[in-house]
Amino acid sequence: MTRPRHSAQQYIDGVLAGDRALLARAITLIESENPHDAPLAREVIEACLPHSGRSIRTGITGIPGVGKSTFIEALGKHLIETRGERVAILSIDPSSQISGGSILGDKTRMERLGADERAFIRPSPARGHLGGVGRHTREAILLCEAAGFGTILVETVGVGQSETAVRGMTDFFLLLMLAGAGDELQGIKRGILEMVDLLAINKADGDNVNRAERARREFENALHLFPASDDGWIPKTVVCSGLTGAGVPAVWDVVLEHHQQMQETGNFTRRRERQAVDWMRDLISQALEADFLRRPGMEARLREAEIAVRQGAVNPISAVAGLLS
Ligand code: GDP
Repeated sequence: MTRPRHSAQQYIDGVLAGDRALLARAITLIESENPHDAPLAREVIEACLPHSGRSIRTGITGIPGVGKSTFIEALGKHLIETRGERVAILSIDPSSQISGGSILGDKTRMERLGADERAFIRPSPARGHLGGVGRHTREAILLCEAAGFGTILVETVGVGQSETAVRGMTDFFLLLMLAGAGDELQGIKRGILEMVDLLAINKADGDNVNRAERARREFENALHLFPASDDGWIPKTVVCSGLTGAGVPAVWDVVLEHHQQMQETGNFTRRRERQAVDWMRDLISQALEADFLRRPGMEARLREAEIAVRQGAVNPISAVAGLLS
């Protein structure tokens, strides 16, 4: 590792003091794939854990161009300036794993919000290998909470598998969509629609207002066809504009209404408990996989097995049996 390391106590003190620079470095530490960083990362997380949990965690998704960063700027501004919140935004960027490029990583996104002390913005790559979204995002959420951020927004682009993972670590799931952009589902997987707590038709401004409202009604009808979720929440639909800010406070009002209802019914606690168990299970799979891959000679044997499977010389089942034994 080339960057200067801090001691565990320096990371912990920095995070708990709400120091954004140290929070960013602590997240880099937990994202490290270097096994030598793991004990330090664990110490930092364990010390921060008792200070975490007191936040509203919201997943926000929508295809590129739907206006997520504009919307999140507007929402962040509302939360900070009107509601006096501190807001952390974790953006999961699936493109970096495929092309090395980035849909979300571009520096100009949410520039104004990022300049505010009460905001923390962190793009993170969704690595395919060893966990990716599951492990790092969950732990980044906890560190942001320990640093005093009471609102956590986790942003994904709505085209991959990240959404299911994010759904499993947040309290509320918001989908941004556009009116009348051809195909009703706009490349959003049907499964994602079934997970939403709120569907917002964005860019409801200028001469698009009526079309947005029409689209909202259509989606409202479509959502009624899904089976009710087991927490008793009926998904809502709104129109909004990140550009003008219209409807943005109303989006947050729905998040708060949901939060209150979940607390009253005990579903909030139950969901967080389930998430803690999921976290443990993820850690077990990741630890086992990492341990397996670190065995001496395993990389070479894995490569050989991949070639044999590709050529049809061995079937995947017996290849795995051979490697595991
Ligand atoms: P993202 O890719 O989902 O993060 O979308 P961006 O926030 O970068 O916005 C994509 C484009 O849509 C930009 O050209 C924005 O100026 C525009 N845009 C974003 N939000 C709105 C909105 O509420 N209304 C209108 N009319 N345009 C918007």
